[in-house]
Amino acid sequence: MEKKILYMVLPCYNEEEVLEEASRQIKEKMLDLMKRELISEKSRVCLVNDGSKDKTWDMIQALHEECPEIFSGICLSRNKGHQNAVLAGMLTCKDYSDYVISMDADLQDDINAIDEMVIKYNEGADVVYGVRSARTTDTFFKRFTAEGFYRVMNAMGVESVFNHADFRLMSKRALEGLSQFKEVNLFLRGLVPMVGYTTAIVTYERKERFAGESKYPLRKMISFAWEGITSLSTKPITMISTMGFVVILISIIMIIYALVSFFTGNSVPGWASIMASIWFIGGLLLLSIGIVGQYVGKIYMETKARPRYIIKDFLNEDK
Ligand code: UDP
Ligand code: MG
Repeated sequence: MEKKILYMVLPCYNEEEVLEEASRQIKEKMLDLMKRELISEKSRVCLVNDGSKDKTWDMIQALHEECPEIFSGICLSRNKGHQNAVLAGMLTCKDYSDYVISMDADLQDDINAIDEMVIKYNEGADVVYGVRSARTTDTFFKRFTAEGFYRVMNAMGVESVFNHADFRLMSKRALEGLSQFKEVNLFLRGLVPMVGYTTAIVTYERKERFAGESKYPLRKMISFAWEGITSLSTKPITMISTMGFVVILISIIMIIYALVSFFTGNSVPGWASIMASIWFIGGLLLLSIGIVGQYVGKIYMETKARPRYIIKDFLNEDK
């Protein structure tokens, strides 16, 4: 079988403390995979500098100079965030490779899981998700918030793979598909399942950060979750409509209650009419906002101009 070209994409934001060790380990892995004839000699590691303020880019340049047959680099014009850095790397590398694996630069994703991903690709998978088997090294707080994150996402109607971050393999054609999604509000974990094709899963144990600090404090995590929900789902709008409907139902009960109180003489003058109208108008307003929202949601989804379909195979004799 012809050996395929793999590009590894590692987003790096202020990672000078980990880059030396990470590059050493990943180079070793690439050489090993080449020796075992699993990947082509043209395979590379592409380090994406996401507007770092430290020596990260200097180090990437040095790595490329020392060892251009393994390391390549991309430097973004400024900090654009993890998701954009990963996308920039993947979409740039797809033109030079057969498939791309993205992973964090801080060595939290298990480098040894790459072997299995490559094997799954060679067996025909277009997308291979790296899924964390355990979070034993994470603090309780991180585990709790992170797993809650996946649950909330799913409850909000965002299709995503549980405990899968951005450690994943994508074939060239899957990336071509992904490149048709033109949206600027990026949430790759929710977009990749929309691309389709054959998928597979590789489980690995998430390690501790090799050095340095997490670039995802709680504040960023919350805004990331919100980004995911609002850019992939219009469920929050539907929830407003549902709420309006429920309030109108309650208002019917309240109207009956107010009328009964009125006729049994248990109310002060004016109370019953105010009571009934407050509930009814409240419900009506919520419902109306919800309905208008449904249209806004549709417009929002239309403006994203997502591909309506992606063809996997086309059987036709005169092709
Ligand atoms: N990262 C990036 N741009 C950013 C923030 C993070 O490219 O604005 C990179 C970072 O260098 C790392 C990866 O994204 O390789 C994951 O970040 P981090 O380890 O801080 O997140 P955590 O693992 O704590 O969720
Ligand atoms: Mg990390």
